[in-house]
Amino acid sequence: MNPDMLMIHYGELSTKGDNRKLFVNQLARNIRHALKSFPTLKVEASRDHAYVELHEEDASSVIARLQDVSGIHSISIVFKSDKNLDHIKNFAVELLSKETGKTFKVNVKRADKSFPMSSYELACALGDYCLDHTAFTVDVHHPDVNLDVDVREEAAYLSCHDFLGAGGYPLGMNGKCLTLLSGGIDSPVAAYLLLRRGIRIECIHFAAPPYTSDAVIDKLKDILKILNTYQEDIKLNVVPFTELQLAIYKNVDEPYCITIMRRMMFRIAEGLAKKEHCLAIATGESVGQVASQTLPSMIAINDVTNFPVLRPMCTMDKLDSIALAEKIGTYPISIRPYEDCCTIFKPKAPKTKPQIHDCEFFESKFDWKPLVEKCIAEVKSYLLVDGEEKVFPEENKPIENK
Ligand code: ATP
Ligand code: MG
Repeated sequence: MNPDMLMIHYGELSTKGDNRKLFVNQLARNIRHALKSFPTLKVEASRDHAYVELHEEDASSVIARLQDVSGIHSISIVFKSDKNLDHIKNFAVELLSKETGKTFKVNVKRADKSFPMSSYELACALGDYCLDHTAFTVDVHHPDVNLDVDVREEAAYLSCHDFLGAGGYPLGMNGKCLTLLSGGIDSPVAAYLLLRRGIRIECIHFAAPPYTSDAVIDKLKDILKILNTYQEDIKLNVVPFTELQLAIYKNVDEPYCITIMRRMMFRIAEGLAKKEHCLAIATGESVGQVASQTLPSMIAINDVTNFPVLRPMCTMDKLDSIALAEKIGTYPISIRPYEDCCTIFKPKAPKTKPQIHDCEFFESKFDWKPLVEKCIAEVKSYLLVDGEEKVFPEENKPIENK
């Protein structure tokens, strides 16, 4: 008995009323795309579930791929039966006999209200029949095997195996966000959490050559190749930050350097976000982790922009962040040694409670606006598609640093 199909249970989108059709269509497109290496698979999406018909494919590889698709709550391996009670009973016994364990429980859902038995009656009938025809006994609290039966208009679906999906929203439903990517542990995880929420990402990195090396860019590309699992094409914009950073260190008192530097980062990010049609900017900041991530620091830094600044990691401990980085596979890349523009110019005693008027005072001491504009104009962009770097199409060719 081979599994007939996979039943895909939608995530939070089940609650989204009128927008449901849009969500379902987007998710179906994303699923088809994710399964493109299985050309024989057929995906059907209905209002409540999507189905993938299996033929010769290895169910576990298909499920593993589906577990990376955001917007999926869970995936069940299902066997399809017609709605004749005797047929369902025989199917149930056949299915249960293949399982290991001693105890079972039948769970019935009945979307087809015209089915002549209630969910409870059907559960009892199937339970009794399986008790008589298998060695299993019933345990309704901690069963070894859950036998799920879903009676729908077109058929009854039986299943003993359910796999958790990524949750979240289908990618593409929630616009695009410009993510500040540093090469550390937190920002790639922040990017992943945005993707899981259905938000497409584009990345911005501030490089300070010759103080930072090109190896950092390779590292970022490797991180994005991993994130390509969730978004097939990701653009990385590298900002030549050295000139502005040197100007900051020449004009600003040391304890304020990081605050001013981050205010400049936000200004540049906002400028680029508008150019690239992003609706928000995001960082991997976590409240209190370092001096620039205290709430007073965030007030002083955030003051330069009206753009929404998403901070998916804001309440996470470092250990939570590391666990997620390990799960998605960015951790070994993130811990490769690298120089970040923040750490190279790190002041000995950065301000943990910077004041906006002091920031404005330091910024009045030098003409930073043209330097910010130059940073935006001279961004160098790279495109990562399906785990490989691609050359930009002619019209988008990156402007090389002079
Ligand atoms: P991460 O592990 O993400 O580097 P962190 O704990 O090291 O975070 P910071 O170095 O203070 O913290 O950076 C906070 C956030 O600022 C990062 O998560 C990232 O979003 C952004 N950031 C820092 N440095 C850069 C950079 N050079 N380019 C782009 N973004 C940066
Ligand atoms: Mg960092």
